[in-house]
Amino acid sequence: MAETVRIPAPLALLAELTHRCPLSCPYCSNPFELIARERELDTDTWADIFRQAAEIGVLQLHLSGGEPASRRDLVELVEAAREAGLYVNLITSGIGLTRERLEALDAAGVDHIQLSLQGVRAETADYIGGYKGGFDRKMRVADQIAEIGFALTLNAVMHRHNLDDLPRTLEMAVEMGARRIEVACVQFQGWALKNRGMLQPSRAQVYTAKATVAEARARYRGVLAIDFVPPDYFADYPKPCMGGWGSTGLNIAPDGTVLPCHAAETIPDLTFQNAKDTPLSEIWYNGAAFNAFRGTDWMPELCRSCDRRDLDFGGCRCQAMALAGDPAATDPICRKSPHRALVDAAIEADTVPAPGQQFEYRKL
Ligand code: SF4
Ligand code: SF4
Repeated sequence: MAETVRIPAPLALLAELTHRCPLSCPYCSNPFELIARERELDTDTWADIFRQAAEIGVLQLHLSGGEPASRRDLVELVEAAREAGLYVNLITSGIGLTRERLEALDAAGVDHIQLSLQGVRAETADYIGGYKGGFDRKMRVADQIAEIGFALTLNAVMHRHNLDDLPRTLEMAVEMGARRIEVACVQFQGWALKNRGMLQPSRAQVYTAKATVAEARARYRGVLAIDFVPPDYFADYPKPCMGGWGSTGLNIAPDGTVLPCHAAETIPDLTFQNAKDTPLSEIWYNGAAFNAFRGTDWMPELCRSCDRRDLDFGGCRCQAMALAGDPAATDPICRKSPHRALVDAAIEADTVPAPGQQFEYRKL
C-alpha cells in the first residue's frame, strides 16, 4: 500500500541570483548550461519570492550564485529579504565586494557571510578559481568583513590540490575571525564530475585530513566550529542528501526555475516549475519534481528494508543518476549497492592522474 507522506514546511531557500561569476572553479555547482543575464529574475520578482517563502515557513535565505555581488541590486534584494522576515546569509567569493558595498549590505541587514576559499596561497587559489589576482582581492575583502564585524563562516572546498593545506586553512579561518569553517570535500556532480580525475584526493590525503580535523576540533574548541564534509567516494554509506529529497529546502535558479536541489536538472524526466508562473507553496507541496522522491515508496527494496533508511534516505538521487544511470537506484556510494564497484573503480582510476590532464573550467 502506498504510504502517506507528511510534507514538512521548508526551512531554507537557496536563491541563485545569477550565474555570472568572475571565477570559474572547475567544481562549481552551477549547471553546464548557465543562465545568461537577460534571463535573470528582476528585483521585484525576487522580492515577491522572498515574501512567499517566508509565508510557507522558510526561515533562512541563502543568497548565492554564481557570484551574488554581480547583481547590482544586491542591497535592495537583502532589504526585501529582511522585510519578509528572513535570516540572510550571503554566500560569496568576495570578488565584487568593496568596503562601501559591504557597509551598505550591513546596513541592509545581512546576518551572516559565507566566504569561499579556493586555496591558502595566491598561486593555488588563482589556479583553482581560474582568476589571476583573485586571492589578493579576497584577502582584502576578508579584512573588511572582519572590520565591519559580520558573522563569518569560511567555506573551504577541498580536493587533491589543497587538502594537504588543511592545517593552514584552519589557521586562516581563525585569523580572519570566522567562528565556523566548512571543510567541504568536493561533491562529484556537474562540473566537479567532469573534473573528477583532477580533483579526487588520494586515500592517504583523506586519512590525514580526518586526523587533522579531529585534532583541530579539540584545539580550537570554543574558538572555531569545524564542519567536515568528507569525500563521498571513500565513505561506506551515503550522506543524507538535502536531509531527504524535498524535505528541508528549495533552490531557485536565476531564471526562477524551482529545484529540489542544485543538481536536480541532471535527472531526465523530471519537470520543474517556475516561480514566475506558479506559487511557491503549490510547487513545494504539489510539484511533481518535489514529490518524485519524497518518502519511501520510490525506494528500491534494498533501501526500503534497511534500518538506515531514515538516516540517509537512500542517499543522493543525482549521484545515483550520474553513476548508476538510474535516479531511483540506491546511491552507489553505499557498500550494499550493486553499483558500489563503480565507485571503487573510479577511486583507483582517478587517483592516478593522466599525464597532461587539465582542468575544464566552468564558463558561461
Ligand atoms: S564555485 Fe567558483 S565559479 Fe562557481 S559560483 Fe562559486 S566562486 Fe563562482
Ligand atoms: S541500503 Fe539504502 S538506506 Fe541502507 S544504507 Fe544503503 S543507501 Fe542507506
